[in-house]
Amino acid sequence: MQSIHELYALLKQKGFRFTAPKRELLDIFLANQDRMLSVSDVFHLLPENSGIDNATVYRNMQKFSELGVLESMVDDRGVSRYTLQEKEHHHYLICTQCGRIIRFPCTTHYWNSFAEGADFTETMHKLEVYGICASCKKAALEHS
Ligand SMILES: [Zn+2]
Ligand SMILES: [Zn+2]
Repeated sequence: MQSIHELYALLKQKGFRFTAPKRELLDIFLANQDRMLSVSDVFHLLPENSGIDNATVYRNMQKFSELGVLESMVDDRGVSRYTLQEKEHHHYLICTQCGRIIRFPCTTHYWNSFAEGADFTETMHKLEVYGICASCKKAALEHS
């Protein structure tokens, strides 16, 4: 979890200039750290009459990603989703129904021996596991 102070300190250190829309967007990510948000999710979470349009949301999310503030992924439907970048490297369980994410630590690099065997030098890796979260499972049961 990121605190607002840490986040703002990081952005200042990177020479970032704060504007009202940027603060508004960061607040949404801070309040939704357990979800991966698409541009349209963020747009819908903005207060009405925020004056922030879709293009501004998109542009700022790209910018935040470049700065390493947001981490992005493409979901199983090909939609880009974003969440605040964590300090520690970790992996995700992602609910395909509600977009909730559950972070889990990276422990065994079981592919190391394969990479070595192929004389392959790893520069980064990602692991995303898709499925249905507990509350979506519960909701589905209640509706059946
Ligand atoms: Zn869910
Ligand atoms: Zn890992």
